[in-house]
Amino acid sequence: KLGNATAKAELGRASWKLLHTMAARFPEKPTENERDTFKSFLYLFSRLYPCGECAAEFQQLLKKHPPQTSSRGSASLYLCHLHNLVNLRLGKPEFDCGVNLRDVYDCGCADDEDEEGR
Ligand code: FAD
Repeated sequence: KLGNATAKAELGRASWKLLHTMAARFPEKPTENERDTFKSFLYLFSRLYPCGECAAEFQQLLKKHPPQTSSRGSASLYLCHLHNLVNLRLGKPEFDCGVNLRDVYDCGCADDEDEEGR
């Protein structure tokens, strides 16, 4: 367990950034294998997350709200809602999941954009 609140918040911000950016780059039409990979990643992530209390809470959340992986849109919205549940628990404001999450979480990886240029 990290005893330093600043370090814990920094880890959280970096982690959410990675998770939301991964979802924003997830295929529009994922294969079964891609869907499994994303789902497994979230479960493994929740087991290895370095803040123990956060990891335990995240595992409970995943149990209650299993990963949605049918498309980029559903994965992105799912993670946005999950993050909002953590926000709620921590007394943070709710984030508007109606925004274009693809624009908010732009990774600058233009080299592997899909054929529609997104
Ligand atoms: P963060 O919540 O880190 O968000 C970063 C930025 O993401 C925000 O500034 C905003 O621009 C954007 N954002 C906010 N909400 C959303 C959303 N719903 N969808 C998309 N983008 C959004 N900390 C604890 O103290 N206790 C815990 O139990 C705990 N559990 C955690 C579990 C996980 C899986 C993770 C990744 C982090 C956890 N944290 C926990 C850390 C906590 O969620 C925050 O990351 C940390 O407190 C820093 O908060 P912040 O206000 O800077 O914004």
